[in-house]
Amino acid sequence: MKRKTIAGLAALSAVLGAATAAGVITAKRKKQKQLASKDNKSLPPKRNIYFAGGGLAALSGAYYLIRDCKIAGDSIHIFEESENIGGAFNVGGDSETGYVCTSPKLLSVRNHANLMDMLSGLKSANIEDMSVKDEILNFMRANPIYENARIIDADGKAIDSGFGVTKPAVKRIKALLSAKDYMISEVSIAEFFEETPEFLTSNLWIILSTTYMLSAMSSAVELKHVINCLAGEMPELYTMKNALRAQFNLQETVISALKNYLEANNVNFATHCVVKDVDFETDTNRISAIHLDDNGTAKTFYLNKTDLLFITNGSVSECATIGDYNTPAPVSDEIPASASLWRRLSDKCDGFGNPDSFYDEDAASGIISFTVTSKSRTLLDAVNELTGNETGCSALTTFKTSPWGLTVSTMPQPYFDGQSDDVTVICCYGTSIDVPGKYIEKNMRHASGAELLFELVKFLGLEERWEEITADIINVIPCLMPYATASSLPYSDEEKPLAVKDKHTNLAFIGQFAKLGAGISYSSEYAVRTAREAAYRLTGSRKSSTPPPCAAAASYFKLFKALKK
Ligand SMILES: Cc1cc2nc3c(=O)[nH]c(=O)nc-3n(C[C@H](O)[C@H](O)[C@H](O)COP(=O)(O)OP(=O)(O)OC[C@H]3O[C@@H](n4cnc5c(N)ncnc54)[C@H](O)[C@@H]3O)c2cc1C
Repeated sequence: MKRKTIAGLAALSAVLGAATAAGVITAKRKKQKQLASKDNKSLPPKRNIYFAGGGLAALSGAYYLIRDCKIAGDSIHIFEESENIGGAFNVGGDSETGYVCTSPKLLSVRNHANLMDMLSGLKSANIEDMSVKDEILNFMRANPIYENARIIDADGKAIDSGFGVTKPAVKRIKALLSAKDYMISEVSIAEFFEETPEFLTSNLWIILSTTYMLSAMSSAVELKHVINCLAGEMPELYTMKNALRAQFNLQETVISALKNYLEANNVNFATHCVVKDVDFETDTNRISAIHLDDNGTAKTFYLNKTDLLFITNGSVSECATIGDYNTPAPVSDEIPASASLWRRLSDKCDGFGNPDSFYDEDAASGIISFTVTSKSRTLLDAVNELTGNETGCSALTTFKTSPWGLTVSTMPQPYFDGQSDDVTVICCYGTSIDVPGKYIEKNMRHASGAELLFELVKFLGLEERWEEITADIINVIPCLMPYATASSLPYSDEEKPLAVKDKHTNLAFIGQFAKLGAGISYSSEYAVRTAREAAYRLTGSRKSSTPPPCAAAASYFKLFKALKK
């Protein structure tokens, strides 16, 4: 069992945007990179495949290049700005100083076909002789998710049915589902439902917005894709019984297994390494050079004819910061590396989209999560008592009257490898961070860990037990992710670049800010699908990624039947 130390927290804060320390790249990796550099022109050409960014999208792209496109792992190079690989999946901390995770992530068999395909080919990092897919499915068999309190009303009672959508709003949903994507992608959800604003207080909206991190300012097309993917599962939206998770958080389940696979195949990882710029030849539509800041040293790699570059052109986790029990998470003044690389590229040539639509300072695309680490079960048991949930089988509970959209999740315990037996962890988040809370008269983004905990405790009706609860608190760590929902902001058809623009190019865009038909762009499945598809297209493979589930007539029937109730 790995033991997390204080370095874990430092590492997370580095991952989350405060990285300054120099990382180490092994001599072997340096040598491999030099093979492609200008000074080694005389060496025989070897195909090199580069990834700008080391999140789930990049790791999945590398996985499919090796598994399906038969690319040798040692020709793949992953450049990651922060100290850790894994992007938004990163976790940190320990049982002494408190844990931090960006959110309680959940998966789904039906809506994560590409991710599940990949997980079926990866060996579990936690259980011998088992795939990650089986690790997750076995855990689910023993601990099936069944949420008893998806929404808690003003009286502290669970709402477990009824979506509260008025007839005129149902009509608007029908119009949304039949609209062409390009017609509604620039329209915000608030604008689309302008004449039926009550939709934005309905239970359906509370569930969808807090599960898929949508806000009234998100694009209507994202809501359309979410409803399309979920149309067949309407009654289960309350119980979330189609959701999946593992014993441990997904960094230690999915990312660790992926990293093990890639390392076993000799893939090269460079951390603290930022891809700053690229040279693009407009006549051939190809990238000819990559400019890096590798641990403070400027480097350039020149691309051979067969070399490829995959760019994660936007990241929901960059510039994230953490606070602690007494301190709110600060605002980072860093410019996200992904957006700045994307901006440089889009300045060089049309057709590469427009980061400004997603990285607008006024766009308010941030969310705050906070992880509560306690040296007893007091708080965990109190949450379960209110919700009627069992630890490990719950999913998400949102407090309907919370201006922050406060949502709590009691994850399986232990949730972190190395978590002490007597320590419990719960994770909460809010989606409206620029308004005061119901009890704390501060915008969520300005609240310390203690203040966030107080708001939660008040919603749980446990104010009189404050002393008892706080006596056992090890830490409450807020995490501000300023661009968490940026990929869902309204955009015109050309503003997200196609994953692969032209089959003769050597460049692909992957992750949530690349365009690839339908699908929930916010989800990890989308990141995997863009990368898988890009890997196939750039290597000329005849394979295809699995398309997102498409709502059939029967699904729409279920959807509208459920909305009538
Ligand atoms: C709060 C939150 C909750 C979520 N919950 C769920 C969930 O429950 N289920 C689900 O399916 N999905 C969920 N997601 C979505 C999921 O986390 C993302 O889809 C996934 O992480 C996207 O992976 P990515 O590689 O595209 O981007 P990221 O995870 O953001 O990783 C990108 C990485 O690339 C690096 N990078 C970018 N540009 C450069 C550069 N130029 N040079 C070097 N490095 C660079 C960044 O530092 C970062 O580490 C959630 C996301 C958030 C923010």
